[in-house]
Amino acid sequence: MTKKKSKISSAAYKQLEGIVGPDHITDAIEDRICYSYDGTKQKALPDAVVKPATAQEISEILKVADAGEIPVTARGAGSGLTGGSVPLHGGLVLDFQRMNRIVEINKVDMLAVVEPGVVMGHFQAEAEKQGLFYPPDPASADVATMGGSVAECAGGLRGLKYGVTKDYVIALEIVLANGDIIHTGARTYKSVTGYDMTKLLVGSEGTLGIITQITVRLIPLPASLRSVVALFDDTNQATDAAMRICEEGIVPRALEFMDGPAIAAVRDYIQVDVPAATEAILFSDVDGADITTEQEQNRICEICTDAGAAETRTAAGPQEREKLWEIRKSISPALYKIAPNKLNHDVCVPRSKVRALMRWLDAVVEEATVPVIRFAHIGDGNIHVNFMFDHSDKQKAEAERLSKKLFKKVINDFQGTLTGEHGVGNRKSKYLPIEIPPRELKLMKEIKDLLDPKGILNPGKMFWP
Ligand SMILES: Cc1cc2nc3c(=O)[nH]c(=O)nc-3n(C[C@H](O)[C@H](O)[C@H](O)COP(=O)(O)OP(=O)(O)OC[C@H]3O[C@@H](n4cnc5c(N)ncnc54)[C@H](O)[C@@H]3O)c2cc1C
Repeated sequence: MTKKKSKISSAAYKQLEGIVGPDHITDAIEDRICYSYDGTKQKALPDAVVKPATAQEISEILKVADAGEIPVTARGAGSGLTGGSVPLHGGLVLDFQRMNRIVEINKVDMLAVVEPGVVMGHFQAEAEKQGLFYPPDPASADVATMGGSVAECAGGLRGLKYGVTKDYVIALEIVLANGDIIHTGARTYKSVTGYDMTKLLVGSEGTLGIITQITVRLIPLPASLRSVVALFDDTNQATDAAMRICEEGIVPRALEFMDGPAIAAVRDYIQVDVPAATEAILFSDVDGADITTEQEQNRICEICTDAGAAETRTAAGPQEREKLWEIRKSISPALYKIAPNKLNHDVCVPRSKVRALMRWLDAVVEEATVPVIRFAHIGDGNIHVNFMFDHSDKQKAEAERLSKKLFKKVINDFQGTLTGEHGVGNRKSKYLPIEIPPRELKLMKEIKDLLDPKGILNPGKMFWP
């Protein structure tokens, strides 16, 4: 990181201090470093970090930023995987840790209202205490915030049965770049009044407005949850088993895949109790009424065995389940045992193309001169492909080459999409034109210009400069 001139004048800093109070703004280097990175390991220093407590304070902060053309990057937990919360152009980082109240959990209206700094896992646990369920469940839910997850439209492990964040957000409070506070959506079960601005803002990655309050719908907590873990000596057998489960009409709440190199990486990280010959693992969770989950659990075991599974294991209680899922949940940190860097992609294809994509990827693994690791929300067709690389330019270039090849294949031949859940950030912005035609891309930029004419909100993200 090189030393750059601050984008915040001393007069603007004083104004910001006046808005939040001196204890809630900092330009100390040790604080700025803490806000300079996200899950991609990219780094860029902000000029200051400000911790507002209300939408009104954010409105006033944005008026100062707008007037001084100061870049503003919103940051939740910084767990994003596409550079979203990295302040590429310096300026201000907004931290929401003081806006962390669960305002309401309403059992009659089946909804909750939360502030953006609420940690997802905490919110899910509070809803569950009341017999209610908030399904979006990125593997990072123990740290990720509600604001970050809405801004990314996070998916996660339960997407197959329950969908993703945009399927649950029904209303938002947003502060626009000029400081205006707007409200979208309604608390009602249904609403089609006007354009659906809520959907536009979910997944907008901090580029269109700052989310200051979120209303989500909740559903009843399923009574029973059972799990199956199936071990395969062949990757394609595992893929086939997953597809057969779906084709039979079973809708698991989670259907997850990991390949042999992913298992090997986790072996180096935690103790893994699977045979050495295991080349793929399929994890399934089924939920619903007790009788149904028992039947579905048995049937999934049969399907996996028919498809060639060397072994199936089941769990009913939470502790057994945790143990079964530990391997899957350890993948992300374990990957860094293989190489210090990764380009991790989350392409998504229609389910009918999953088998073909996995076979095509087998050939990519053979051809690649860098390690390639696959794990997947396979039931959704959301395949995570990780190209690992060291610090050399040669390996980095190979990871970039393979990424481009993957995107072109997925979009041009498999009717797929660039990103199923991680978003665009700056990591994928240059690939957007592969999927989005010029007219549609222009329209998206016009929406951005309308809501943020000076381009102060998260500059450098979503669109390639
Ligand atoms: C180990 C690991 C596992 C993961 N698993 C999954 C997964 O299964 N599924 C999945 O979808 N993602 C996954 N992710 C990615 C990431 O955790 C999610 O996108 C998460 O929702 C980001 O939340 P955050 O609070 O960390 O947001 P941040 O990373 O801080 O920010 C993400 C984006 O949201 C914007 N933002 C944050 N708060 C606001 C706000 N209040 N208003 C406007 N914009 C805002 C930021 O500017 C940025 O563009 C994973 C990440 C890790 C590290």
